[in-house]
Amino acid sequence: MAANKCPRCHQGKVFTHNNPYRLQGGMLKMEKTCSHCGEIYEKEPGYFFGAMYVSYALTSGWFISWFIMYGLFLDWSTAFFIGFQAVTILMLSPLTFRWSRIIWLNFFVRYDKKKAEFGKGNAA
Ligand SMILES: [Zn+2]
Repeated sequence: MAANKCPRCHQGKVFTHNNPYRLQGGMLKMEKTCSHCGEIYEKEPGYFFGAMYVSYALTSGWFISWFIMYGLFLDWSTAFFIGFQAVTILMLSPLTFRWSRIIWLNFFVRYDKKKAEFGKGNAA
C-alpha cells in the first residue's frame, strides 16, 4: 500500500514519480489510470476529497503517538514539542498526501489476482 502501487493489481503506479520528495516538480502528479490493468483512479470529480479524512487521521495518529511518548518518556519543553510536531508534520506532508490517497483507493478497490496476472488483456 505504501509502495505507490495500483490497489487492483499491485503492479502499476499510482503516482507518476516514486520519490515523494521530488523537488523538480510533479511530486503530487498522479496517473489517471493504471498502466497495467487500466483501473481508473479518480472515480468521479472530487473523489479524493475523502482522502482528506484519511490524511487527518494519519496526522492525528502521528501527533497522538508522540503526545503519549512526550507525556510518558520525553523530557521536552512544551515549546520544543510543538516545534517538533510542526516541523515533522510539515516534512511528512508529501508522504501523508500520497498515503492518504492510496489508502482511500484501497477502501474501494479490491485486489484482483486475474488483473495482476493478465493486466488489461484477459481480465474477466
Ligand atoms: Zn492496476
